[in-house]
Amino acid sequence: MSIDSKGKTAGESGAPGATNFIKAIIDEDNKTGKYGGKVLTRFPPEPNGYLHIGHAKSICLNFGLAREYGGLCNLRFDDTNPSKEEVEYVESIMEDVRWLGFDWQNRLFYASDYFGKLYEYAIQLIKQGVAYVDDLTADQIREYRGTLTAPGKESPFRNRSAEENLDLFERMKAGEFPNGARTLRAKIDMSSPNLNMRDPVMYRILHESHHRTGDQWCIYPMYDWAHGQSDSIEGVTHSICTLEFEDHRPLYDWFVDQLGIHHPQQIEFARLNLTYTMMSKRKLLQLVQEGIVSGWDDPRMPTLSGLRRRGFTPESIRDFSERIGVAKRDSMVDYALLEHCLREDLNRRAGRVMVVLRPLKLIIDNYPEGRVEEVEAINNPEDSGMGKRTLPFSRELYVERDDFREVPHKKWFRLAPGSEVRLKHGYIIKCNDYKKNPDTGEVTELHCTYDPGTRSGESTDGRQGPADRKVKGTLHWVSAAHAAEAEVRLYDQLFTKEEPDSDRDFRVNINPRSLEILKGCKIEPGLKDARPGERLQFLRHGYFCVDTRDSRPGAATGSSGPVFNRTTSLRDTWAKIEGK
Ligand code: ATP
Ligand code: MG
Repeated sequence: MSIDSKGKTAGESGAPGATNFIKAIIDEDNKTGKYGGKVLTRFPPEPNGYLHIGHAKSICLNFGLAREYGGLCNLRFDDTNPSKEEVEYVESIMEDVRWLGFDWQNRLFYASDYFGKLYEYAIQLIKQGVAYVDDLTADQIREYRGTLTAPGKESPFRNRSAEENLDLFERMKAGEFPNGARTLRAKIDMSSPNLNMRDPVMYRILHESHHRTGDQWCIYPMYDWAHGQSDSIEGVTHSICTLEFEDHRPLYDWFVDQLGIHHPQQIEFARLNLTYTMMSKRKLLQLVQEGIVSGWDDPRMPTLSGLRRRGFTPESIRDFSERIGVAKRDSMVDYALLEHCLREDLNRRAGRVMVVLRPLKLIIDNYPEGRVEEVEAINNPEDSGMGKRTLPFSRELYVERDDFREVPHKKWFRLAPGSEVRLKHGYIIKCNDYKKNPDTGEVTELHCTYDPGTRSGESTDGRQGPADRKVKGTLHWVSAAHAAEAEVRLYDQLFTKEEPDSDRDFRVNINPRSLEILKGCKIEPGLKDARPGERLQFLRHGYFCVDTRDSRPGAATGSSGPVFNRTTSLRDTWAKIEGK
C-alpha cells in the first residue's frame, strides 16, 4: 500500500523514473514496441450505481496515464446486466467524469454496442470446438464446479457436436427457451486450479429489456466474456483494473488468444479503501433505499455527486488520487488525507466570510444609535486578487453564543464580564454586562462598550495596522440590522467506525450525529445572494458551500434562504501527522 497512518508513502515503484509500477510497465512496452508506442486506456463502469471516490482513483489513473503518454482514454459502459442498469446511472456517471475534469471526446462506448460482435465471436468459438451449450441448471453448474481443493466435474452436455451447439445457441438467441434453461460455456478445463477456467459461462438466457438494446436480445453475455473482448475491439493497450480480476486474467487471455484478436495487457492495482466510509455499490444503494441518507448525492455519501454537493473540488480529488498512488496490495487510506487535500485547495480559493451559527445579541452601548460604518474586509489573505468587500458595522451585532462565558476559565480570551476582545475588521470592545432570561437562565444579550481609536486598518497581508492595540481574542460578528438568515447543515462522518462494513451489518456503525441542522444563522448581507455551489470559509468555523439542491439565493426573507453545507472543519489532522 502507498500510504500508512504515519503519512509515509511507499508506492511500489517499478523502473527508476517511473512513479508507479503501471508506468514502469507502459515504459517497458513502449521500449519494446509492443503496441507501437501507443497508449489507449479506458474507464469501464457498470451503470448500476453512482460513481464513488474509489472510481475517481480509477478515472484519474486511466485518463491521467493517457494524458501523460500522449494517448487516449475511452469511456465504456460495461452494460451487460439489464436487470440492474438504469439510464439515470449512465447520465450521472458521465456528469461525474466530466466534473472530475476528464474528456472522452467522441469515444463513448457501450459493451452493448458489441453484442452483435460478441455473438459472432461465440459462434467462432463453438465452431472451433471450444464452447458448448449446457443444459445444467445454475445450481448444478455450481455443484459441478468443484472447490479450490476439489476438481470440478464435466457436464454431460460438454461433448455435443459443433452442429448441435450451433443449433441450440441459435435457438437460445431466438427466444425458444425460458430463463436459465441453458447457457453457453467455454470448454476449457474442469480441473484447472483456477476456478475461472472451469468452463465459465459466456451467455445466459434472460428475457429482459435492456436500457439500450430494448428487446433485441434475450441472451446476454456474462461480464467475463464481454469485458476482455470489448477492450480488444476498442484496441485498448493497457487494460487497468482492480486486484480481484487478477485471477480472471488467464481467462481473458484465453478468450483473445482463441479468437486470435488484439491482445490488450491487463494490469491490476489495489482498489481504494477509505476509512469511515464504504465503497460497495450494493451497500451504498442500501443507504439510499432505506432512507438512511437523502439520496446518492447526500453530502455524507462517498459518491462523487455527494462529495461535489458537500463542497469538494475536482482539483482536490485529483490531487488525492495522485498522492495515494497505485499499489499491488489492498489497504486502507485515512480519510484525513482526502480532507487535507481539500483544505489545501480551499484555503487558496475560498473567500472568507463571517457567519454566526448560534447568534447572541451584542449591544455596544456607547456606539451612536442609527450610525452605520462600512468596514473593509479582505476576501482571502492567501490571494490578494480576490479583492475586498465592505461590511456594515453598527450598534447591535450578533456574535457566537459560544464566545461568551459568564464564568470564564483562566485561558478564556473571548467574551466574559470585564473582558476585552477585537471584533474582526472592527473595533476592540469590552464586555460590561449581560442579560438573562429569568425563567430559563439563558443569556439573551451582551452589553459592551467600544474603544473608538482601535478600528482595524488591515493591510492586504491580513495583519493589523501598527496603531492597533493588541488583545488576545478576535471574534467574528455580523451587524444585526443588516444580517440575512440562512440554514446551515453541519455534516460529520456517516459512520463512527474506521471500517464500518467490517461488521456483519454496517448499520450498527451509523453515526447518529452525522447531520445537525441549524436554522436562523446570521450571515453577512452579501451572502444572501451566494450562488449554489459557491465555496466559502466561514471564519473560525470551517469550509462551507452553498447547497445546490435546496438553496434559494436571494430569498433572504421568509422561511427559506441560502442553505450552506459544512464541507470540512478548519482543523487538519493530516497536516499534524505529516509534522507540518
Ligand atoms: P461492481 O461490484 O458493481 O462491479 P465496481 O466497484 O467494480 O462494482 P464498476 O462500475 O465495475 O464498479 O467499476 C468501474 C471501474 O472502477 C472498474 O475498472 C473498477 O475496477 C474501478 N473501481 C471500482 N471501485 C474501485 C476502488 N475502490 N478503487 C479503485 N478502482 C475502483
Ligand atoms: Mg466491476
